[in-house]
Amino acid sequence: MDNLIERFLQYISIDSQSNPANSQCPSTEGQLTLARYLEQELKDLGLVGVDLDSNGYLMARLPANVDYPVPAIGFIAHMDTAPDASGKDVHPQLVENYQGGDIALGIGDEVLSPIQYPELNGLHGHNIITTDGTTLLGADNKAGIAEILTAIEYLIAHPEIKHGDICIGFTPDEEIGRGADRFDVQKFGAQWAYTVDGGPIGELEYENFNAAAATVICHGVSVHPGTAKNKLVNAMNIAARFQMMMPADETPETTEGYEGFYHLSTMTSSVARTELHYILRDFDQEGLACRKAFMEQQVAALNSELKKGRVELILRDNYSNMREMVEPHPHIIELAKQAMVECDVKPLIKPIRGGTDGARLSFMGLPCPNLFTGGHNFHGIHEFITLEGMEKAVEVIVKLAENTASAYRR
Ligand SMILES: [Zn+2]
Repeated sequence: MDNLIERFLQYISIDSQSNPANSQCPSTEGQLTLARYLEQELKDLGLVGVDLDSNGYLMARLPANVDYPVPAIGFIAHMDTAPDASGKDVHPQLVENYQGGDIALGIGDEVLSPIQYPELNGLHGHNIITTDGTTLLGADNKAGIAEILTAIEYLIAHPEIKHGDICIGFTPDEEIGRGADRFDVQKFGAQWAYTVDGGPIGELEYENFNAAAATVICHGVSVHPGTAKNKLVNAMNIAARFQMMMPADETPETTEGYEGFYHLSTMTSSVARTELHYILRDFDQEGLACRKAFMEQQVAALNSELKKGRVELILRDNYSNMREMVEPHPHIIELAKQAMVECDVKPLIKPIRGGTDGARLSFMGLPCPNLFTGGHNFHGIHEFITLEGMEKAVEVIVKLAENTASAYRR
């Protein structure tokens, strides 16, 4: 497992933050630097079909070592880190045998505290890798890459473990929502796959939000304020009225678990025109349809009340709950659960209150639940991961490969 840590530290030393402002793929040069490094590593491991395409998607395959047909399965991780915090000059610190209490991050006054993150209380005795308080760590998702490759290396070193074809895919620009855009499912060649991009030990996710976006455009009339009487219509007032018509108890800050919401995420405003940008989320496809219908009703209601000015609504679907694509193939989840149980990991099945590349891939014909990496607090300076969690992830990947082959043994 030494290679696991070594790999992880090597990958996080490469700044591969993605950039939403750049429409090219990949959106940053750093991702290509990491991709080229990984390409060499895949070749050195002796994998076949190692291919880094011009968009920065890296694929490879570990050929089956059985003489009967086993479905090819895949493991996927993303190479970029989130734009929310810097991923440059990451200085990780290793806290061995954590005994509780605050962990000082670097030499500033940043700490990782069990008061803020009570899950630390369950990690006494673990070895924890943290940041120095100035960057994110990059466990999301470089831990996933390190875990997949360490599992592959283990399978190669242990030919007595029988497995089918194992496909590996490392993608760019996941954090800016484009990771599945140019993923060639056909070329990848797996019948189903797992993203190794989850959080704490045991996480297994195959349900995510259905997502839509709504833009409410409020049209006013701009007139010089000195001569505005009975002429000026302030679009910002209309926008404020509209927002007050939305349910206050169906927002991200008032919901959890399987509850959906409306979220006013941004607005651009002027007297003549104010745009309200909402995101709509619901685990249920019908629930999302109801939310869209509700917004249409509110817009119609406000338009009929307004004496001056007008409101317009634009609705757009974004992504869908992968559950409907995964559930027809229950063995995909059963194999993952079974592998965890056999590795002494309690499967922690919970809905993702967001979207994943796996969800997009599921609708592109590659059912793709998400497995844990062992990481916590992704996207910020409080990100950390435990060595124990990473090792368990490797074990589970190996076990999954093994169990898939034995499930299809004649
Ligand atoms: Zn991720």
